Amino acid sequence: MDDINKLVRGNILRLTPYSCARDEFNGTSGIFMDANENPFGNLNRYPDPYQKAVKSDVALFRGIPEENIFLGNGSDEIIDLCFRLFCNPGIDKAMTFTPTYGMYEVSAAVNDIKVIKVPLNENFQIDIRKAETFLSDENMKLIFICSPNNPTGNSMEYTDVEHIISNFNGIVLIDEAYIDFSEKPSFIKLLGKYPNLIIMQTFSKALGLAAARIGMAFANHEIIHFFNKVKPPYNISTINQKAALDKLGKQDEYRRQVIQIKAEKERLVGMLKSLSITEKIFPSDANFLLVKVKNADRVYNALIDKNIIIRNRNSVIENCIRITVGKPNENNKLINALKSVQI
Ligand code: PMP
Repeated sequence: MDDINKLVRGNILRLTPYSCARDEFNGTSGIFMDANENPFGNLNRYPDPYQKAVKSDVALFRGIPEENIFLGNGSDEIIDLCFRLFCNPGIDKAMTFTPTYGMYEVSAAVNDIKVIKVPLNENFQIDIRKAETFLSDENMKLIFICSPNNPTGNSMEYTDVEHIISNFNGIVLIDEAYIDFSEKPSFIKLLGKYPNLIIMQTFSKALGLAAARIGMAFANHEIIHFFNKVKPPYNISTINQKAALDKLGKQDEYRRQVIQIKAEKERLVGMLKSLSITEKIFPSDANFLLVKVKNADRVYNALIDKNIIIRNRNSVIENCIRITVGKPNENNKLINALKSVQI
């Protein structure tokens, strides 16, 4: 696959994008009388529409050129933009490997796109044979691979992922929201090899900025151009851009937190193993654990009564709960509460 223009919807190719005042002049000093802002105040000016300062720091942080970076209002905006760019409503299809992050399906439904859900195998890995039957469908435009996967916690096999990318003529989006917690390598190094690949990461997990809503997409510069063409002009606020810059200026803190969360995860595994309600703890490359218990609904409700909120995944994987690693005292409280659950 070498021509991104062939993958983009016709109406997007023909679109004349909105041109905001700061597209025409983007210097930082001057007398600004171009955007109908209030001349008084601290937050009176529109933000940089292309978040150049943040991208410059992200480029250093991830070792990716700025022209290959797009920032969205959370990863969720990037997911939605992918449907808008590559999928014709009512006609095209997307593929997911289930169980996985629920927003792919919701965003598809919002955009009137049919989703082919290919179940992961018993090890929560991609079933290549099942997936392959859909790769040649001419209406299949977008494939989501979540690695490490939510809610299962495991990473997808490198060779399976590459097999999908190299045998598919549409766009493959690899969602690496949890990659900082993983010992496995990122798929970023495949970007140079495959122009149809988008890697998505986020400030919401290891970087600790879920409130700021900043998602990152790394891709070939033509895909980045199309993201910029369709995004709302000022999609990341000045306050949130500043939060991102502050965070990237404190990378020691981020590294310390990742180490601590990983250590706490191992401690939680040890404590959960000793509980009678625990049936199985699935291996996790993320900051959460998928745990099979004797009765997930009962465990979930018992914890709610104690004001401890976990995710009940019983409806997607029988009797499984998903526990996000907390602070040490929160993890201790969870274990104490679980000790008193009667099944
Ligand atoms: N991808 C995955 C796999 C997630 O689990 C989540 C949120 N739980 C997101 C993306 C959303 O990230 P953001 O906060 O950047 O929208």
